[in-house]
Amino acid sequence: MIIDLRSDTVTQPCEKMRQAMSMAKVGDDVYEDDPTVNLLQEKAATLSGKEAALFMPTGTQSNLVAILAHCQRGDSFIVGEHAHIYQYEAGGSAVLGGTLPKPIIENEDGTLPLEKVLASIKPKDIHFAPTTLLCLENTFNGKVIDLGYQETVCQTVRKKHGLKVHLDGARLFNASIATNTELKKLTAPYDSVSLCLSKGLGAPVGSVLCGNTDFISRAKAWRKMLGGGMRQSGVLAAAGLFCLEHNINRLKEDHDRASTLAECLINLGWQVKDNQAQTNMIFINDSEQTLIKLNETMKSNKILLSYGGAGNSLRIVLHKDITDEGLNTVINAFNTYQRN
Ligand SMILES: *Cc1c(COP(=O)(O)O)cnc(C)c1O
Repeated sequence: MIIDLRSDTVTQPCEKMRQAMSMAKVGDDVYEDDPTVNLLQEKAATLSGKEAALFMPTGTQSNLVAILAHCQRGDSFIVGEHAHIYQYEAGGSAVLGGTLPKPIIENEDGTLPLEKVLASIKPKDIHFAPTTLLCLENTFNGKVIDLGYQETVCQTVRKKHGLKVHLDGARLFNASIATNTELKKLTAPYDSVSLCLSKGLGAPVGSVLCGNTDFISRAKAWRKMLGGGMRQSGVLAAAGLFCLEHNINRLKEDHDRASTLAECLINLGWQVKDNQAQTNMIFINDSEQTLIKLNETMKSNKILLSYGGAGNSLRIVLHKDITDEGLNTVINAFNTYQRN
């Protein structure tokens, strides 16, 4: 059996989730007739403490729709240089939305330096692409972003400069569980939040975009234009609902297993980023040659890791399909690995 630690997107729907999907009451969601989609959206709105939510096919489309709903063509928005929105969404907001991203290099702790954010805000002036939005990400490479920082930066850019603030919360449930903080407390500083159901929560497909009623109605129009108006999508929403009901608290198991594995790796002399796991992720830093060899050897042992992301690091991601038995297999493989 293959142990896949490349990402938390690789999970299989369990039998009970498949049952929930097969039994789901459905209707045409473009007519807002799908009771299961409506239920998922209500639940997501409640959990995030926002007025409304919209079921999205992917996190990428969810972030894109958020930017399109917040910004006009010709606006600029501030975003982390290594944020998913800037690095891994194919420049969609520029290509399809005519917006100009202004990337800022993150601090070590994943925050954007406040003075740089403020200095990057362009006012309305014929020379500039006026800045109307700030996008942050939590967790960022698995790292939980300080809530006090988010409250300060969001309040400052909103009150002083009239910006909107969007959170890419693909893994916000991991942050919530890791810090024992209610999700809605983590979303409170923001106008809009995108949450992935298909990462650690374990749904096969889907994200939810949350915000106020007016924002969500604009988002719905953009989603339709982008081809994301789905029909009997309650079959998919049922999986998302199942996750929200059963898979949030169990994220702690992934974090605990990540900690256990990180400790083993450190004891074996591997250089683990920050000397600890980042929620459900571990990053090993070393030379390219060493990491490629490690990656290839593990692959031949049917253990898949992720090499080639940020810098010289190899990423290991824990998720619901990695049991204690799987973890032990991985630990044994590292114990017997010959570095030279
Ligand atoms: C996975 C991810 C997304 C987008 O998810 P897709 O559903 O794969 O489009 C957005 N932001 C972050 C931080 C992610 O990890």
